[in-house]
Amino acid sequence: MTSPLRRPLIAGNWKMNLTLVQSVELARAVKDGVAAAAGETAVCVPFTSIAAVAGVLKGSSVRLGGQDCFWEASGAFTGEVSTGMLVDAGCQMVILGHSERRKLFNDTDETVNKKLAAALKAGLTPIVCIGETLEERETQKTWRVLETQLAGGLQGFAPADLSKVVIAYEPVWAIGTGKTASPAQAQEAHLFVRGQLEKLYGKAFALGVRVLYGGSVTAENVDTLMAQPDVDGALVGGASLKKDSFLRIMGFATA
Ligand code: PEP
Repeated sequence: MTSPLRRPLIAGNWKMNLTLVQSVELARAVKDGVAAAAGETAVCVPFTSIAAVAGVLKGSSVRLGGQDCFWEASGAFTGEVSTGMLVDAGCQMVILGHSERRKLFNDTDETVNKKLAAALKAGLTPIVCIGETLEERETQKTWRVLETQLAGGLQGFAPADLSKVVIAYEPVWAIGTGKTASPAQAQEAHLFVRGQLEKLYGKAFALGVRVLYGGSVTAENVDTLMAQPDVDGALVGGASLKKDSFLRIMGFATA
């Protein structure tokens, strides 16, 4: 069970899925089910759905997030969306450095760090994703990768600046593959992440930061993952697109 210092967070990442009509329908179901949630609930939706989903979620406790942002406030940056635009459209959160962005769209620790600065300035809760590939795990580089991504992504801030930050440990080999990290593997990595955060920003900070697990979380495995002491929530891709599975994940039980 997660520490009482850290309210569990279940965040859905809809990725590049769902039309406006489908987005509104799923958001309504999440809103209707949130009373039975075991912690905080969020949905991170495609840019095109943000405003409509914000309308649906108005007055509910479900948080709304974007899946990326650009670090400049405005200007000639065709195709990009600023943090101010996310806030204006109704977001309270933003995912940063998702492994799909790192792999397919060249996000680096340096660009994640710039996006983080912009997100914090705009008052958004950033969910900063880190995680090793299968090759990195098999060649014993997991800890080095996590250490580098954390230090690079979070560099240049004081602990107080980072009080809203959420970390998502997402082993790349588990994302969208149906291969979940075992609860023991997740706990081991989360403990390591917390140890790194303690080295960087001190014990009080590390004890207060929520570290989510992401990678093929389902209605069937969420309870055992959430039962790990350093797993403070989940970032959920595929299973967040189906009403029944996401509602079950939101209502995880650790007892
Ligand atoms: C994700 O998108 O961050 C993710 C973990 O996806 P999935 O749950 O489908 O593995």
